[in-house]
Amino acid sequence: MQGLTASYTLEAPMYHDVMYDRDAAVGSYWEASAGDPVTDCAPLDGDEHCDVAIIGGGYTGLSAAYHLLRDDQMSVRVLEAGVPGWGASGRNGGHCCFGGAGLGANEIAEKFGVEVARENIDTQRASIDLVGDLAATEGLAIDRQGNGEFCVAHTPRANDELKDEVAMWKRLGGFDCELLTADAFFERGYRGPAVHGAMLFPFGFGLHPMKYARELARLAQRHGAVIHGRSPVTGWRRDGGKHRLLTPGGSVTAPKVLVATNGFTRDDLHPAFDGCLLPLISQIVATRPLSDDELKAHAWSSEEPLYDTRTMFSYFRVLPDRRLILGGAGGMSGSPASGRRWAAFLKRRVATMFPAWRDVPFDYTWRGFVCLTADRMTHLGEVKDDPGVFYSLAYHGNGVAMATWSGRAIAGLISGRANTAIPATMTQPLPRFAIPALRKLKFQGRFGIRLMKELLQLPR
Ligand SMILES: Cc1cc2nc3c(=O)[nH]c(=O)nc-3n(C[C@H](O)[C@H](O)[C@H](O)COP(=O)(O)OP(=O)(O)OC[C@H]3O[C@@H](n4cnc5c(N)ncnc54)[C@H](O)[C@@H]3O)c2cc1C
Repeated sequence: MQGLTASYTLEAPMYHDVMYDRDAAVGSYWEASAGDPVTDCAPLDGDEHCDVAIIGGGYTGLSAAYHLLRDDQMSVRVLEAGVPGWGASGRNGGHCCFGGAGLGANEIAEKFGVEVARENIDTQRASIDLVGDLAATEGLAIDRQGNGEFCVAHTPRANDELKDEVAMWKRLGGFDCELLTADAFFERGYRGPAVHGAMLFPFGFGLHPMKYARELARLAQRHGAVIHGRSPVTGWRRDGGKHRLLTPGGSVTAPKVLVATNGFTRDDLHPAFDGCLLPLISQIVATRPLSDDELKAHAWSSEEPLYDTRTMFSYFRVLPDRRLILGGAGGMSGSPASGRRWAAFLKRRVATMFPAWRDVPFDYTWRGFVCLTADRMTHLGEVKDDPGVFYSLAYHGNGVAMATWSGRAIAGLISGRANTAIPATMTQPLPRFAIPALRKLKFQGRFGIRLMKELLQLPR
């Protein structure tokens, strides 16, 4: 490993600085409603040693810390640049559902074979169970909501495609998804324009993402994890056979390091990740709580999380306090002006999907990074030419369950006592984008063309 002896400052390499500002409030509903923050996570002060140093205090890092301590009693320190859950883990839509890879199950079957696709599907099911079991056995207060996840078809053609998808899940996953006609969905989900049917996926639920992140942090602490908030890793040195991570207040030296920084990973953190990750912005808007009459206007009855089939799809649900949250794309620059434009776009989307709510005021909007790779797969493992450096990254916007599972899986690799089978797709080498400087543009171009096709051909 070379080139990591210099310190650096935390500047935004790919997006506007404001996206990396740990001092400003994120502005999310989750932040406002999560209750007490995690205590005992003071910044690192002095030079410390431990078995495993974890960079990043989101679901990946916190799940890894908890499992390393619970199962292997290794000493662990988590270094988090903000506070626990500051990243995507405290800001997401709270859909604890299928996902993780950017490739669909069909595409994985084509590329890697049916057995590997099946392993991936089993892993996704296991990841949802893991969160549910953790919450139940450890008594985590996460505001669990609903049972399953709806996919709503916004055109007749999309509805036909859902039929193919149901058949695909049966063939590869061995389970049934329920197909609902528009009329059946009006009884179970909600009533609105451009609804042509729906699929009820039998796994998944909603949760309060910031409460979950904080509960996971407290759980790890109860097992002995030391969490340092406001402790950005700003330099990385080799010290004999060990790694020394530098922060403004001191350093942690450890034989093993886990990189759990996902969409907030700087290219210069470590050469193994330089040019390998593509952070993309996802943004959410939240209304004020809806009245009974307003809910009745769309015959809202779903407790399940939902998403739709639009190319720029929306994910949404009505929360236990009856406010609608709806998320989707969040622009490519991260500037405050762009944040306002995309919030306006999402509010128009709410008005299109739920005309009766077009005048309902919005209380919150916020955004954060999801993380993609060039091969659109989640990756976890040990860096080949730098022993002791482990990573678990890239859940393609679906990390609530998968980051929790991956944190446990990587803990097993770190301790050497493998705790689960890991699908072969996840342990492939992490590829670099062909032209890293253009990775955002390439994505924008591909997505732009698909979006234009949708706008030209299909009703909105
Ligand atoms: C708006 C939005 C909506 C989403 N909705 C969903 C959803 O509904 N369902 C779903 O499954 N997934 C969703 N996701 C994705 C999901 O939130 C992520 O996949 C998951 O939280 C990733 O967890 P993580 O711990 O790997 O990363 P993060 O939670 O992003 O944590 C990484 C942490 O690393 C820290 N860090 C970075 N660099 C350093 C450094 N140098 N030193 C110290 N710390 C550092 C950051 O401060 C950050 O807190 C959404 C994401 C966003 C942004």
